[in-house]
Amino acid sequence: MMPERGWILLIGILLVIAYGLMAMSPRTVVTGSVPTPLIVLDPGHGGRDPGAVAPGLTEKQITLAVAEDLGPFLRQQGFRVFYTRTGDVHLGPTVPADLNERVRLANTLAAALFVSIHVNTEPSGQVWGPIVYYVPESAESRRLASAITDTLRGIGPYHAPRPINQWVLRYTHMPAVNVEIGFLSNPSDRYRLAQPAFQIALARAVAQGITRYWHTAP
Ligand SMILES: [Zn+2]
Repeated sequence: MMPERGWILLIGILLVIAYGLMAMSPRTVVTGSVPTPLIVLDPGHGGRDPGAVAPGLTEKQITLAVAEDLGPFLRQQGFRVFYTRTGDVHLGPTVPADLNERVRLANTLAAALFVSIHVNTEPSGQVWGPIVYYVPESAESRRLASAITDTLRGIGPYHAPRPINQWVLRYTHMPAVNVEIGFLSNPSDRYRLAQPAFQIALARAVAQGITRYWHTAP
C-alpha cells in the first residue's frame, strides 16, 4: 500500500506546485484576450425633461426605445454596453447637471465610445432624416459619425455628418457622437419614429456603423 500512497502524495505535491506557479505568473500570460470595448449609450433627456414634444410623443420616449434596441445589437457584435439611463429619469437637478452626469459616467467608466441618441426639431417641418453630430476637433469622432451615416443611408433620407459644439461630445474623453435619429417636427419622421419596427431598423443601422468603425483602421 505504501508505494501507491507515495505516488498519490507525489502527484498531490506536484499539483500544488503547479498551481502555485500558475498563481504567481503575471496575468499577461493569458495571451490573445483583448479587453471587450465598452460603449456608453446615452438616451437623451428623461424624467422632467421630455426633450422635443409632439402630440402623444416625446423625444425622451423615442431615444430610450431606440437605445434599448441598440444595446442588444452591440452585445451581439462583442461590445459591452452601459446605459446612462434605463428608465424615465433625469440624471441631475438641472439640465447642465444632467449633462455633466452623462459625461462623468462615460469618463469614469473609461468607455471606448460614447453614443448619444436624440431626436431633432426645426421650425419649417420640412426637414427629415437622421443627422450624426461630432465635435470638429476629434478626427475619430468624425470617422465614427461617417461610419454611422453610411449605414443609416440604407433606411431612408439622411444628411451628411455635421460638426457641432455640444457639451456631452466636447467633454467626453473618447470618440463621441450624437445620433439625431430624425425630426419630430416633420410628419413623415414623426410617423416613422413612433413605429417599433423603424426604431429597430435605426438601431440595427447604428450598430452596424459602430461595428464597421471599430473594425476599420483609421
Ligand atoms: Zn435632444
